[in-house]
Amino acid sequence: TDPALIRNFCIIAHIDHGKSTLADRMLQLTGVVEQRQMRAQYLDRMDIERERGITIKSQAVRLPWAPTQGGDQGGGAGATHILNMIDTPGHVDFTYEVSRSLAACEGCILLVDAAQGIEAQTLANLYLALENDLTIIPVLNKIDLPAAQPEKYAAELAHIIGCDPSDVLKVSAKTGEGVAELLNEVVRLVPAPVGVKDAPARAMIFDSVYDAYRGVVTYVKVVDGTLGKRERIKMMSTGAAHELLEIGTNSPEMTPADGLSVGEVGYLITGVKDVRQSKVGDTITQHSNGATEALGGYKDPKPMVFSGLYPLDGSDYPELREALDKLQLNDAALVYEPETSAALGFGFRVGFLGLLHLEVIRERLEREFGLDLIATAPNVIYRVDMEDGSEHTVTNPSEFPVGKISQVHEPVVRATILAPSEFIGAIMELCQNRRGVMLGMDYLSEDRVEIRYTLPLAEVVFDFFDQLKSKTRGYASLDYEPTGEQASDLVKVDILLHGDKVDAFSAITHKDKAYAYGVRLVAKLRELIPRQNFEVPIQAAIGSRVIARETVRAIRKDVLAKCYGGDISRKRKLLEKQKEGKKRMKMVGSVEVPQEAFIAVLSSD
Ligand code: GDP
Ligand code: MG
Repeated sequence: TDPALIRNFCIIAHIDHGKSTLADRMLQLTGVVEQRQMRAQYLDRMDIERERGITIKSQAVRLPWAPTQGGDQGGGAGATHILNMIDTPGHVDFTYEVSRSLAACEGCILLVDAAQGIEAQTLANLYLALENDLTIIPVLNKIDLPAAQPEKYAAELAHIIGCDPSDVLKVSAKTGEGVAELLNEVVRLVPAPVGVKDAPARAMIFDSVYDAYRGVVTYVKVVDGTLGKRERIKMMSTGAAHELLEIGTNSPEMTPADGLSVGEVGYLITGVKDVRQSKVGDTITQHSNGATEALGGYKDPKPMVFSGLYPLDGSDYPELREALDKLQLNDAALVYEPETSAALGFGFRVGFLGLLHLEVIRERLEREFGLDLIATAPNVIYRVDMEDGSEHTVTNPSEFPVGKISQVHEPVVRATILAPSEFIGAIMELCQNRRGVMLGMDYLSEDRVEIRYTLPLAEVVFDFFDQLKSKTRGYASLDYEPTGEQASDLVKVDILLHGDKVDAFSAITHKDKAYAYGVRLVAKLRELIPRQNFEVPIQAAIGSRVIARETVRAIRKDVLAKCYGGDISRKRKLLEKQKEGKKRMKMVGSVEVPQEAFIAVLSSD
């Protein structure tokens, strides 16, 4: 295809603002999906995506479109253009993937719900798009809704982007109103891709998806040159060579082609079995006489949040390992290693990009692999400097070093919160409680603000978003990006049962919060642990200093004492009942703890 006839664009939108529905309309209007095959949210393939309404993996679809009016760009009025719609994952955890899919585009539709206005995540992605020099087409969706306020939000968008309110398009993805005009505007406004036709090929990987039958399917944008089928290619970050078994485009099903050239977007298959061999952000070139300089931007995904995952039933451990192995084939960011906990048995310490990533993986393990899991409270990575000059990296609180510590560093993020201005006080209070430092505040319109804070990541990963939502009646939206680390006054709090440390409950907290954490956990455990034959002290301690204590009193009478006389069958029943109850108990040192206690304590509240 002549690059002048190509338009590569993406849609940036907050969850539920109608991206999938708009994509559906575009598929229909351009005729790539016939009416009778149409089902809602055609492109959202993964079940979990459909149910939670989030897009985890980006995809690209090729749409032929002949502008119906005023489109005399490229090949002249009415010429059929190729629009490549590149779907971007919307969530904070996948910022790097988002920025790579943006880099494959020249333009972007900024889609905002006309009854809601722009949200923090959308704003963050808009800034990413601007950094990538994309042409922005602002669009308000859902104008059919009675609650829509297109004029108000057009003014808001115009203010943010610096355009005229009349430049903001108004559509209804539901009824289809305005969608053809939007496609015309994509042709008119989005620049055609530019690249060097006769140079060695350079193609950027913006997504990599594992398919059980075909192996890894890699999505690329060809920037320079041409990639042909059966060619030998090279991954520039590692130098690894592969043969191109298939190359083609999605319209929307995979359609093989002879090759892809300048500006084209499509997929390729090399037979690799693991997405880590075909990483997002990497550059592909020919194996011999290939390009020498990679396209910028490659970065290894780095886990930010860790949690211990344990099977509820210890005998499921091998299945858990297999399931993690399988998920990793499709997720270059998922890392894990075996871990043993005195309280929870055999499991894995798993690293995630963020909280949503954690939730998605956990849910997939439970749903797709039928595993029942206990997850320990999520924690971040700490860097600990010792007075003797040694340095430790801590991904599990129970491994926090003992001895003379000179400094502890924790990761920090820059958080952006958008909310109606009536909630400013509540938001500031929450951020202050989470050790936040305010960076600034701006009014987006007369009644909506953008508030910026520096916050320790550890304070964000633990129920921050839930709190924010509940304090703003669901109106606030949050985005955050890692900005480095800071030295903080952090300590490890241990929980001891009858003198034995319960590793799963160890936590690293700020010194000022250690006491509250200790008191809360100790009180909770006292309620959950049944009486034993002996008195069980429950303590919270920093090092050897006890900061909170409760006691579970001993059982005074033997249960069997109640069964006076010779009622053997009743006695047996009682004994059996007791045995059954025991099965769900875990021994921590000499204390029996019901499994429910772990689950109850580890689930945040
Ligand atoms: P996404 O999360 O951005 O992909 O949003 P969806 O496309 O899944 O849409 C979220 C919800 O909004 C769904 O219930 C859609 O039916 C609805 N929706 C999307 N576009 C419109 C629209 O133009 N008008 C109305 N009334 N509802 C819409
Ligand atoms: Mg969607």
